Amino acid sequence: QLMTGTIGAAAVAMVASACASEDGGGEGGGGKVGIAMPTKTSERWILDGDNLKKAFEEEGYEVSLQYANDVAADQVSQIETMVGQNVDVLVIAAIDNKSLSGVLAQAKGQDITVIAYDRLILDTPDVDYYASFDNTQVGTLQGTYIVEALDLANQAGPFNIELFAGALTDNNTKYFFDGAWAVLEPFVTEGKLVVKSGQTTLEQIATENWDGAVAQERMDNILSNFYNDGSVVDAVLAPYDGISRGIIASLQGNGYTTMPVITGQDAEVESVKYIIDGLQSMTVYKDTRELAATTVDMVVAVLDGNEPEINDDSTYDNGNKVVPAYLLEPVSVDVNNYQEVVVDSGYIAEEDLA
Ligand code: BGC
Repeated sequence: QLMTGTIGAAAVAMVASACASEDGGGEGGGGKVGIAMPTKTSERWILDGDNLKKAFEEEGYEVSLQYANDVAADQVSQIETMVGQNVDVLVIAAIDNKSLSGVLAQAKGQDITVIAYDRLILDTPDVDYYASFDNTQVGTLQGTYIVEALDLANQAGPFNIELFAGALTDNNTKYFFDGAWAVLEPFVTEGKLVVKSGQTTLEQIATENWDGAVAQERMDNILSNFYNDGSVVDAVLAPYDGISRGIIASLQGNGYTTMPVITGQDAEVESVKYIIDGLQSMTVYKDTRELAATTVDMVVAVLDGNEPEINDDSTYDNGNKVVPAYLLEPVSVDVNNYQEVVVDSGYIAEEDLA
């Protein structure tokens, strides 16, 4: 069965590639896929790259996988190189969502199929499909976790909360924050939650490059400027595990022994350990194996001349067009369900958490 599947897909790729080669898009033989990932500093992108490479190779594709160390210009040149190598497909998790219009126009000139992976690419007609998670729901899960952990339905508070968001160059950032803020803002209006720093706009709370050290420094500043009167932080909205750990380091450095409610995202090993140890409250798990599989299915369908499966055709307007998307469901994980959700599913090995 495995054999037939592999040969079938490879044959599909060969036909597609042969068609594409008329305008210079293919090489003959198996199809070529260029995968551009943002960085190796975060665990998830390493898994994404590995999963994608493996899955495409199993389908008979030749793969070029590149990481750009969070430098947008380097990612653009990596993609230019891939276009020069006549790939049939580009799978891109963009560092800067607005920096790719030029290189994608070149790609379209060669009939290359472009898939925005996890992060939408903006201001270009030259992106065909988007494979991601329900990014608003990620924020909803984070916001809801805080509301429930502080029992805001029954408690008057007021509780102090500080807000962190991701990189402004990442289209997901505002979706995560908007999802969380829609849940939290009514409690701020009601007075049950107080943002003592007053920093609530995306520009004020964004974290360059999603960098934990940048978040740690901002938290240090918040603590020394707004919590020097003996008041404590009760909750922190953090969008990503690396940022959560930076915030936790800051709190520890400032004498906190009991942590506020702190959210996260990605179910990184280090953060799941923090959850077990009671340092971080939750994370949002996104099974990157599923995202890779979804992306490969999309590519196989497109190269086979079929319509890929889409489950959202209205949310992701990239400023030029609404990009048809397939969105997977994120899952809220805390100390009560991490075993079932991330360990029993095989995402993290039990011994890695020891
Ligand atoms: C991804 C998140 C990740 C973040 C930082 C976002 O685009 O959707 O899963 O935590 O980038 O790498």
